[in-house]
Order: sequence, then structure tokens, then C-alpha cells
Amino acid sequence: MRAILAAVRDAAHLCRLVQARYLSANIKTAGDHSEPVTIADYGSQAIICRALQMRYPDDAVVAEESAKDFAQLVSVEQRAQILTLLSQVLRQDVSEAELIAWLDFGAGRSAARTWVIDPIDGTKGFLAKRHYAIACGLLQDGRAAEGIVAAPGYNDGEGALFYTREGAAFRAPLAAGAGAGVTVSGRSCPEEFIAAQSFERAHACKSRMARARELAGLGGVRILELDSMEKYALVACGDADLYMRLPRAGSDYAHKIWDHVAGVALVQAAGGVVTDLDGAPLDFSQGETLPNTGMIISNGAHHARVVEAVQRVMAE
Ligand code: AMP
Ligand code: MG
Repeated sequence: MRAILAAVRDAAHLCRLVQARYLSANIKTAGDHSEPVTIADYGSQAIICRALQMRYPDDAVVAEESAKDFAQLVSVEQRAQILTLLSQVLRQDVSEAELIAWLDFGAGRSAARTWVIDPIDGTKGFLAKRHYAIACGLLQDGRAAEGIVAAPGYNDGEGALFYTREGAAFRAPLAAGAGAGVTVSGRSCPEEFIAAQSFERAHACKSRMARARELAGLGGVRILELDSMEKYALVACGDADLYMRLPRAGSDYAHKIWDHVAGVALVQAAGGVVTDLDGAPLDFSQGETLPNTGMIISNGAHHARVVEAVQRVMAE
């Protein structure tokens, strides 16, 4: 995994360069994209897929972006910007043909090992300079086995790299350096409990989540609102104790596996619990989307009580 960790760090470096140099250079939302996409999404995915191709040439990949969308959405000027960034971060000359091949590496294959990549999760947070994540997870025989989540906004923008290794979870400085083991918190007392949730209103129903906390005896707990899979990382390292994603009334949004695999692996390796709204494990066997409408992630304390509360809220 060392090479893949290094690639996720390089991808995060590229994202920070894009924020510093070209923040206005987001690529317009088009087609079936529910989220904006930027030159950093393509650069980040290319770096991670390049490393996977070198290290794991026979594995499958499911990633959010594709060479097809790149061809349709990215202007000539933006292509040149991406190639300049890639050449700088990878310290080698990169051609457009290489970039296109990396973007689609492993796509459409089936293999026992499938890497699941979100090159920038929380693009709205990235564009607004809030929180975002670069995520690379591994599905092994359908199970979230490994996860890497780079969170450049962690700890007031210091950033951190979260990852699993041999069934345990670690946090390292984002730029370089060894990781130290992390685990979920042991907090259970409602006065000390901390819940994380989406910043964006459209992504989860804040009133349902507030109601569920109240019914579970966790009304009035501290709430952290932030974008991206960094929320999974916060639960994994004990900075937060509960993270819910409940759908807005009438929403038929289908959750994508790249928004979850890395985070689920990380939280589970840290000793936490991840379920759907019925309290069952997430089902990653249905292709790019998940069959369930929401998630409950916690340090384990009160998990059953929260599931029960969510069931009542969803029936209301
Ligand atoms: P977050 O930053 O945790 O709010 O989640 C960001 C992710 O939510 C992105 O990967 C989006 O693709 C995804 N997303 C977009 N629209 C929705 C929606 N209506 N419901 C739930 N998630 C969404
Ligand atoms: Mg995402």
C-alpha cells in the first residue's frame, strides 16, 4: 500500500496547488453530474490510477470521473493546466494520452480486488475552501477491506492522511511522515458526545437527523458540520462519535460507492460501526450505487438506539 499512500498524498498536493493557482478554473457542471467537477478531480484521479496501474495491473477500478467526461467537459486550456500540474507533482513529463489512459485504468473490469476512488469528495467544499477529501478504498470480495482518506482541511487546514493497515487505522501528517494508530472514541455520555454531519443542506436532512438524535437521547450534543468523507475520518480517530446521513423527504438520491468504501474500511479498522438505516452492513455488491437510502456511522456507543430512533423518524 506504500505506493498508493504516496499517490494519495501527491493527489492532495495537486489539489492544494489548484486551490492556490486556479480556483476559478472549475469545469462547468454538465451531463448527469450532480456535483461540480474541477481540473483537480482529473489530476487527482490520474495520479491515483497511475499508481494502481503500476502496482496492481490486474485489479479493477471504480472511480468517479472518466476519460469520456474528460473529453467532453475539459477545454484545451484546462487540459494544458492539468498536464502542467501533473508534470510538476509527478516530476516527469506527462502527455495527454497518458493522462487519458490513467483516468480509465481498470474501469469496466471485474476482479476479486476493486479499488474505489473519489478523487475529490466534497467538491463544493473544495471550491469554497472548506473541507474536502481524496479517497481510495479497496473492495475485496465485496467487503470494504482497506481505506485511504486524505483530508487537507483537517485540524484547521493542517491536513492529515488517514489509512488502514493490517486491520488497524492510522493518522499521518498529510505531506510526509509516519502514521500513529487511531481508534474511535470511548465517549458515551450525551454531555460529551459529538455528532458530525454534512455542511450542504441538499446532501442530508438536518431536521430528521436532529429529531433522530433527540429520540435517541442525544438532543443537544455538539454538532460539527463539514463536507466530505473527512466525517468518516473524524469518527475513526475519535474526534466525532456519530455521523448520520438521512435522506431528505422525497429524495431518490442513490449513494455512490466511492463516497463510502474508504471511509467504511477506516471506521471499521478503528473499531467503529457502520450500518444502513436498518442497522445492516452496507451492501457494496450492486455496482456503482448503494441500495440503501442512508448511513449511520458511530463509535458503537448508542448505535442500536440511534438505528431505532432513525426507524421511527423515517416512519413519521
Ligand atoms: P458531504 O460533503 O458529506 O455532504 O457529501 C458529499 C457527497 O454527497 C458528494 O460525493 C456528492 O456526490 C454527494 N451528494 C450529492 N447530492 C447528494 C444528495 N442529494 N444526497 C446525498 N448525497 C449527495
Ligand atoms: Mg464524492
